[in-house]
Amino acid sequence: MLNNTIAALTEYAVRNGLICEEDRIYSINALLERLHLDSYEAPSSVELRPVNELLEILTNDAVARGLCEDDSTSRDLFDTALMGCLTPRPSEVRRTFRQLLAEDPQKATDWYYRFSGTTNYIRWDRIHRNIVWKAPTGYGDLEITINLSKPEKPTTTRAAFKAAMQTVSPYPKCLLCSENEGYAGHDNHPARQNHRPMPVELDAEACFLQYSPYVYYNEHCIVFSARHIPMVIDAHALRQLLDFVTIFPHYFMGSNADLPIVGGSIFTHAHFQGGRHVFAMAKAPVETPLVFRSFEDVQAGIVHWPMSVIRLRCADKSRVAALADKILRVWRGYSDESVCILAETEGVAHNTVTPIARRNGTDYEMDLALRNNLTTEELPLGIYHPHPELHHIKKENIGLIEVMGLAVLPPRLKRELARVGELLVHGGDLYADELTEKHADWATELKTRYTFTEENVKGILCKEVGVVFSRELEHAGVFKRTAAGKAAFLRFIDAVNEQV
Ligand SMILES: [Zn+2]
Repeated sequence: MLNNTIAALTEYAVRNGLICEEDRIYSINALLERLHLDSYEAPSSVELRPVNELLEILTNDAVARGLCEDDSTSRDLFDTALMGCLTPRPSEVRRTFRQLLAEDPQKATDWYYRFSGTTNYIRWDRIHRNIVWKAPTGYGDLEITINLSKPEKPTTTRAAFKAAMQTVSPYPKCLLCSENEGYAGHDNHPARQNHRPMPVELDAEACFLQYSPYVYYNEHCIVFSARHIPMVIDAHALRQLLDFVTIFPHYFMGSNADLPIVGGSIFTHAHFQGGRHVFAMAKAPVETPLVFRSFEDVQAGIVHWPMSVIRLRCADKSRVAALADKILRVWRGYSDESVCILAETEGVAHNTVTPIARRNGTDYEMDLALRNNLTTEELPLGIYHPHPELHHIKKENIGLIEVMGLAVLPPRLKRELARVGELLVHGGDLYADELTEKHADWATELKTRYTFTEENVKGILCKEVGVVFSRELEHAGVFKRTAAGKAAFLRFIDAVNEQV
């Protein structure tokens, strides 16, 4: 049985270009060493199966023989070590990537994306468990993913942010550090023997490109600094985003904001996220054209979007970078008490942006979503954060991916929404069931607008979850979509124009 599986795994590696025919015996021996086996007999025929199934057979056997603990962390460490035996050295992978990049950037990313799945660095069998749909809203088709492949991430409060900034593991310093390449991992750090980031220089800084192992959208990639330095959104970061879409014009590249509550989950290591996907935000039109003084050559406008987004567009990326930097600098220091925007309280800064760069034909386009992370006693998670009445769907941070129109929702919703649907169709007390209690106000209101049947309930709930998500984004918007909010937005634009 093991002979067959080892043969099949090696055959998989040869067929998918991870190793050459000449590497076959050597690789089988490397696997035997990891499996603590001292002999092997080639089977007369090889039964090919998906890579995750082959790895599972080998890992189950290792567990049975006491080589591997029977828990998900230990199993992941073990099967990644096996794939490490079949993953080419970094220099070989980079040579191929560079050759393809010189030919055509799309060929390079096509190859590298496939490679990242072939090595099982992207665990496709897990990603495919996610439940995904599109929900039509007044802002276009928002995308929804119930994430069943990654543990739910906690909301970053200021206290958690401070603690995270002070916690440094000795080696590698964090999950993004380049020292993860080939690292065996341990109970608190994933194995990365099959990880091969690709070097890319952005605004004269050495960085690396990798794919996200969680793939929330097509070719979801991460770019991280070669050094373990904190993330900061500044002129340099904005130029880096534009440099990336110069090298890879078929990708967008954006950044989480650099403050807690409105940012992402890793602040300790400078990084961006991008990929080959057109989000609802990118399709959203400009609803109010703007003119910025001394930047009349840059097309600008407020985007028709639930959050407060300024779009800049110009064929000259240095002009986009210069104007984006000016807007960012003015925003950092901008307060408008009439609409509850304070640049700082007690010396703590609250304003930042979530920037996204993309190409539009030969033009450069940059969206700046204005963010503010003020909290109050009533709203300790943030004023510009989904308010408590929407937490039954999602209470986590509105980070870059959500800003662009894709909700990554917690796994609990799979069971909860199914139960809400049952009770809506068959009747029952929504407030009395622990799975539906938190959704009861929402579902009760839905009952006033719909007659639920077995046939329509799923579709209605999917659509209405999208509506809740669009309201969450509206909550995250600093200038509300009202006459007063719009006037306040335009006062901010005036403030930018007053700045020389
Ligand atoms: Zn790091």
